[in-house]
Amino acid sequence: MPRRPDRRMPEAINKELRELLEDFQQKLALDDLRERVLALVPAYHLLRDLGSSLMLAEDVSAARDRILLYFQKYPITVIHGDELMVVSGIQDWPRRTRELRREYGWAIASGVTLKEMSVEGEISIEGVNSSSLRPEEYILLSKTQDREAALRWKIANDIRRTKQAVRDKILEFLRKNAGSAVTGEELRYVGNDKTEWARRVRELRTEQGWPIATHNTGRPDLPIGVYILEKDRQSPVHDRNIPDPVRRAVLVRDGYACRMCGWNHNQWDRSDPRNLELHHVKEHAKGGENTEENLISLCNVCHDKVHSR
Ligand SMILES: [Zn+2]
Ligand SMILES: [Zn+2]
Repeated sequence: MPRRPDRRMPEAINKELRELLEDFQQKLALDDLRERVLALVPAYHLLRDLGSSLMLAEDVSAARDRILLYFQKYPITVIHGDELMVVSGIQDWPRRTRELRREYGWAIASGVTLKEMSVEGEISIEGVNSSSLRPEEYILLSKTQDREAALRWKIANDIRRTKQAVRDKILEFLRKNAGSAVTGEELRYVGNDKTEWARRVRELRTEQGWPIATHNTGRPDLPIGVYILEKDRQSPVHDRNIPDPVRRAVLVRDGYACRMCGWNHNQWDRSDPRNLELHHVKEHAKGGENTEENLISLCNVCHDKVHSR
């Protein structure tokens, strides 16, 4: 039944709730189950109002706004769904949380997505043990709103419904958004929420040579939880199969800059949208190994030059 939320101060609601629960002591003696149940209903409502009244001073009346404000007060912090239930005062807080992510572009990552990213070495969040996060936990990764998100979710929804392997769906989504950041939440959704999604992304990078970068793998300037297909082209076959830890070590050693011209991502420009690639000093085909010693970072322009020689 629809009811108007109680907009009193928490002290007043708390007092009424306590009185109600004291009265309930007598109701417990009633024989009729239904009478006992009905007597408890107002207490449930009051408890919910009590939760949402905790944010009364913030002057946000909609449940969704209270959820957002709560996240914004505690960014990069593990928030349990139960907390969102309390501050929102509504039962369908998961739906509101999803709307904040999909329609409003807030970087609210779920524990399950972050855990799967952490297993593949794509994220490490200071002070958070990402590998033990649970599905009912959430983290607001960034305080910046991404206004392109709603459009991407629409594209993700279309691709999700196609009949393709998870890896192909993810690749199609990344290629449609080439050059722009997408979130792990989106990739997981495109892959029909299958646990394998994070591994498939890594395979696209390491086995198929798609330049997919994250904060941990090649682009420390990117926010955590974000993936970007830097260019819509695969690296040559001989430059594939480089394990992520080796790739990371080479890029760190080279200071995330081209070893020939010194280009780094701070110089990125729309008219000259370069990216960094790894090149084998001793050709892979001639027995050159995928080791830190045999690899150097080159921008794609210098890399092309080296190979056309
Ligand atoms: Zn270069
Ligand atoms: Zn090369």
